[in-house]
Amino acid sequence: METLCFGQIQNKEEMILMEKLEQLYEGKAKKVFATDDPALYIVEYKDDATAFNGLKKGTIQGKGIINNQMSNRLMAYLEKQGVPTHYVEELSQRETLVKKVSIVPLEVIIRNISAGSFAKRYGVEEGIVFDQPTIEFSYKNDELGDPLLNRYHALALKLGTPEELDTIEKYAFKVNEVLKGFWKTCGVTLVDFKLEFGRLADGTIVLADEISPDTCRLWDSETHEKLDKDRFRRDMGGVEEAYAEIMKRLEEHLN
Ligand code: ADP
Ligand code: UDP
Repeated sequence: METLCFGQIQNKEEMILMEKLEQLYEGKAKKVFATDDPALYIVEYKDDATAFNGLKKGTIQGKGIINNQMSNRLMAYLEKQGVPTHYVEELSQRETLVKKVSIVPLEVIIRNISAGSFAKRYGVEEGIVFDQPTIEFSYKNDELGDPLLNRYHALALKLGTPEELDTIEKYAFKVNEVLKGFWKTCGVTLVDFKLEFGRLADGTIVLADEISPDTCRLWDSETHEKLDKDRFRRDMGGVEEAYAEIMKRLEEHLN
């Protein structure tokens, strides 16, 4: 038992005491803890940063706080727009109560503009604006290096049912529409991003994990300055400043 976190569940009146029980998992960016409610986990965001499947390691001071707060605010906003998420309540600067899900082992990537592995794989420059967004899946498997796969591969590997994949695609495009519009009001272009989905105990698919500058490419709309983890990946400097700037813009535009 490490910390006690006080929180108020939105749809209950009384204050509840949420206790971090055993650590279930430590990933590259977050730790996951059990709670005394079997349907809820606490996630704790770290400042650790990795890239290139863990080959590059470092620290981005204050990242955990920004990613926690940004992800929570964006997920709360998405809920209001009809996308169900795992978000329950922010407990502290780095800790959040979430609904426990069984993660669908797919990284769902939506792109509006060419960048990163897309530009590299297809031999095109970064910055080509697509007529319509693309979707791609990677098999979430660190040992295999998260290989790209298509819907048929995902079905063959029984990573999800056809209905679940339809739901995931529908939500992923909806998240894109909502977030593209939101970031535009902040003077930011949403280039691409990665989502993860999970199943609640009753099988309902919800958006899980995080939405942050670690998992999205965000460019200043006018200067195209990068305000995301590419500054770390590409040793561009100004990493902490970029995270702080994107958080500041979110706070100015999301009530
Ligand atoms: P990684 O596992 O890629 O190193 P993280 O450090 O972000 O990533 O670890 C967080 C882990 O928790 C991820 O494996 C993610 O899939 C998982 N996760 C995210 N949200 C939930 C949730 N609501 N319930 C269960 N697991 C979750
Ligand atoms: N991404 C992520 N986790 C991953 C791989 C990608 O969050 O393990 C995000 C990344 O931040 C970017 C988008 O998904 O916003 C597309 O990444 P890409 O495939 O271009 O890979 P990268 O260039 O990061 O290797």
